[in-house]
Amino acid sequence: MGAEDNPVLSLGCPHCGETFASALRMDPRTFEAMRLESMIERCSICANASRFDKGDYFFIIDEGPS
Ligand SMILES: [Zn+2]
Repeated sequence: MGAEDNPVLSLGCPHCGETFASALRMDPRTFEAMRLESMIERCSICANASRFDKGDYFFIIDEGPS
């Protein structure tokens, strides 16, 4: 249990297929509790904006540089 366990809310971009960090920065507990209809987010890799539903979001663990 280190400080490196830092879940990052992420999305898969339908345009370029890459995974990018959501503009929503929150922990899994907060995310589960919130009511989210759909969000337009812009991919940080290809810069295309897409609509995402709550089910499209997932957490990845940022393990940081090792
Ligand atoms: Zn993209």
